[in-house]
Amino acid sequence: MERISVLGTGYVGLVTGSCFAYLGHKVICLDINEEKIKKLKKGEIPIYEPQLDRILAVAIESNNIEFTTDYDYAIKNSDFIFIAVGTPSAPDGSADLSFVSQALKTIASYITENDFKIIVNKSTVPVGTGRWASALVTDELLKKGVREAEKHFCIVSNPEFLREGKAVEDFMNPDRIVIGSDNKDIALKTASLYSTLNPPMIITNLPTAEMIKYASNAFLATKISFINEMANLSEKIGADIEIVSKGMGLDKRIGPYFLKAGLGFGGSCFPKDVKALIHTSKKYSIDPTILEAVIKVNEQQKIKPIEILKKANVNLDKARVALWGLAFKPDTDDIREAASLNIISELLNYNATIYAYDPIVKDIPIKDKRINIVSDKYKALENTDILILVTEWEEFKNVEFKRFKDKIVIDGRNIWEKNILKKYAKACFSIGR
Ligand code: NAD
Repeated sequence: MERISVLGTGYVGLVTGSCFAYLGHKVICLDINEEKIKKLKKGEIPIYEPQLDRILAVAIESNNIEFTTDYDYAIKNSDFIFIAVGTPSAPDGSADLSFVSQALKTIASYITENDFKIIVNKSTVPVGTGRWASALVTDELLKKGVREAEKHFCIVSNPEFLREGKAVEDFMNPDRIVIGSDNKDIALKTASLYSTLNPPMIITNLPTAEMIKYASNAFLATKISFINEMANLSEKIGADIEIVSKGMGLDKRIGPYFLKAGLGFGGSCFPKDVKALIHTSKKYSIDPTILEAVIKVNEQQKIKPIEILKKANVNLDKARVALWGLAFKPDTDDIREAASLNIISELLNYNATIYAYDPIVKDIPIKDKRINIVSDKYKALENTDILILVTEWEEFKNVEFKRFKDKIVIDGRNIWEKNILKKYAKACFSIGR
């Protein structure tokens, strides 16, 4: 069993650290956010992620996990150092590597001539970052007088593919583990951390590993924008996108996944990763035609409910609107780039009043007295004329349809039978049906 530290205790870092500890490794989870670490030390989990409590309880019980803000302690007591810090979008769409750079510099400041540390990057970083990281750490070590710097560390890329809401399940049953390094032995050593999971392994060089992550996310985002464009056409010509998707998905060359029409993709990954790949493509003089279209379609799709209402001549001025779902997808508390935020901003332009309900999200970054976050889905319906279903949480699937009487209902994720909606709602719309 290996000694691992994980830097960053967000969705990726906390799941990775907890799961490695559950598998028997000795893990130190570190964050610069003292509040998070305080909570974790008390056994409180700062994010909503199904099954994480169970895994973490086992890890704590077996004394395999510790939480700290002390870099010195974490680096000294680990051989593998995983970086799982954020890489948000910079204003120009590129990946902001300042958290990664900070983490690398701090790691370097604690590496001595007696050490050999394997620095594994799990954050999603542009192609070329691994080698840049290697140069950066080398420089930092040389600056502080560590001789033969490159003999004291090795950079590995191990991109993460977990889905929020299913993160533990994904960690434990990965479709594949990708390990990239310029040192094959170190790559194999890193791969062995996962050996009990027996996953398909891709061992490759640094840029290839980094590219696999971006190409995967960009392809999934492309599937979503593609099906949404097909949905918009289906709507016009009287086709039903749900059946179109089913018919397409049965073709083994296409597959059934990520062909669900709706209000587009959000979250902390797809939008920023596609934008970062566009930025990288331009840097290398490659015209990212497809990727730019993927983003454009998605931006329009997120505010599709507004377009639907305008086309139906619904007066949005000072409208009272219920929103069901704020999270960017079900089973997470993450609202980064969520369609709900775009819809709310649009509605506020019409001076609408919003009554929003989400099973988990109780706070959003847009602060406005016209936004009311309520504690019950039916409460959100009181005194409103329009309902927009934004996130397909399970609890929205079986509802008392009689509550939709006198409401204009937009099913943004096609979760309800259209015929049932028609029977109960004053007017109803969905996506591509
Ligand atoms: P997050 O924002 O939830 O967590 C990042 C954490 O890193 C924060 O707690 C922050 O305080 C901490 N941090 C920042 N700088 C630090 C430093 N110098 N040292 C230690 N901790 C530091 O981010 P996330 O969603 O877990 O994503 C992390 C990375 O993984 C990103 O690159 C993301 O693109 C990638 N990723 C995310 C997902 C996902 O579903 N969230 C999936 C795959 C890959």
